Amino acid sequence: MPLKTNNPNRKSWIEVSSNSDFPIQNIPFGVFLTRDDVITIGTRIGDHAIDLGALHQLGYFKDIPLTDDIFLQDTLNDFISDGKKTWRLVRNRISDIFEKDNSSLRDNEEHKKVVLFTMEEIEMQLPVQIGDYTDFYSSKEHATNVGTMFRDPDNALLPNWLHIPVGYHGRSSSIVPSGTPVRRPMGQTMPAGATEPVFGPSKLVDFELEMAFITTDANLLGEPIPVDEAEDYIFGMVLFNDWSARDIQKWEYVPLGPFLAKNFASSISPWIVTMDALQPFKVNSPEQNPEPLPYLQQTEKKTYDINLEVSITPENSTPTTVTKSNFKYMYWTMAQQLAHHTVNGCNVISGDMMGSGTISGPTPDSYGSMLELSWAGKNLINLNDGSTRKFIDDNDTVTITGYCEKDGFRIGFGEVSSKLLPVFQPKKK
Ligand code: MN
Repeated sequence: MPLKTNNPNRKSWIEVSSNSDFPIQNIPFGVFLTRDDVITIGTRIGDHAIDLGALHQLGYFKDIPLTDDIFLQDTLNDFISDGKKTWRLVRNRISDIFEKDNSSLRDNEEHKKVVLFTMEEIEMQLPVQIGDYTDFYSSKEHATNVGTMFRDPDNALLPNWLHIPVGYHGRSSSIVPSGTPVRRPMGQTMPAGATEPVFGPSKLVDFELEMAFITTDANLLGEPIPVDEAEDYIFGMVLFNDWSARDIQKWEYVPLGPFLAKNFASSISPWIVTMDALQPFKVNSPEQNPEPLPYLQQTEKKTYDINLEVSITPENSTPTTVTKSNFKYMYWTMAQQLAHHTVNGCNVISGDMMGSGTISGPTPDSYGSMLELSWAGKNLINLNDGSTRKFIDDNDTVTITGYCEKDGFRIGFGEVSSKLLPVFQPKKK
């Protein structure tokens, strides 16, 4: 099936500014509350949200095999379960409906009134009910930096790292959409030089610059997914801030890995950009040496060129960009991660989410966390308002943006932006 949605020359009758993340070539999927407080599945072109439930009821998807209520739901899980062929049919149809010469909806004012919303009229929700969430640790630069700081600069990468896409199972209940504030966590830490742990607010709250992919139903329990088929089971990607409390992490992570340092909150961007939309931005993935075991060897060694940026905005102040990285630096690809995840027979279902791990680039201005940018608090990061940071302060807003650009044609992810609130204060009785 041709991916006509990716034709860079296609234009929409909806006005789209040249620096928009959401031209007609993107057509991401999300879930939103409308001005009438109705929850629906939708897409976005420029600064307009499009109600796919309403479009379907008006007959615009007739002859595509979809159940009547597929878009009248509060999550994308069932639509994602329909599989890649259906996603393509729907994206192609949306692209046709909004193509500038197509008058069917363009000239129907009654229909437009129920289908189109400005972004101010809607409230974005979590796009999927995330069943299971896994976080990888797949940036060689990040793993090397952390290994150097926390363990031994001469053996920064542990012996398994170049052979296994290392990961851990996270927690999905605390994954929140962009805009939802996050509370500084309380926890147990072992201060430097102390002999007994203390309990109190984390002093070292950090962001992790990550992306995450959302899967469809991929395999039956007991059956691995071959690496060359793995990408067929990935619906799309979002921006992901894996909030982390470094002081809690340092004390708790041996021997079973991160626990309360990570599960207090993680934030995602609300629009899922499909793998189909990302196809024009494929690039070679980094050389892997030593060669991985056969089950991890891909015929097509490709990843995606996605520019990533993080800014910090103190309360009542302006943003400062603190790092610029790129998804293409990831050592392990998403296909390798998914093949590894299922090689033991572990089953993956619609709406599962897999985090990339912190995406650090090769230079200090491309590191994906404050831990690395401040080198465990040794260096101060200067903000535009004259203040400095080693980690994230109360009431700071952390914003991750991401976009692909090639030959003057751009698609993007919007943003994941969330404010860190002070630690929870129980009401006095
Ligand atoms: Mn992480």
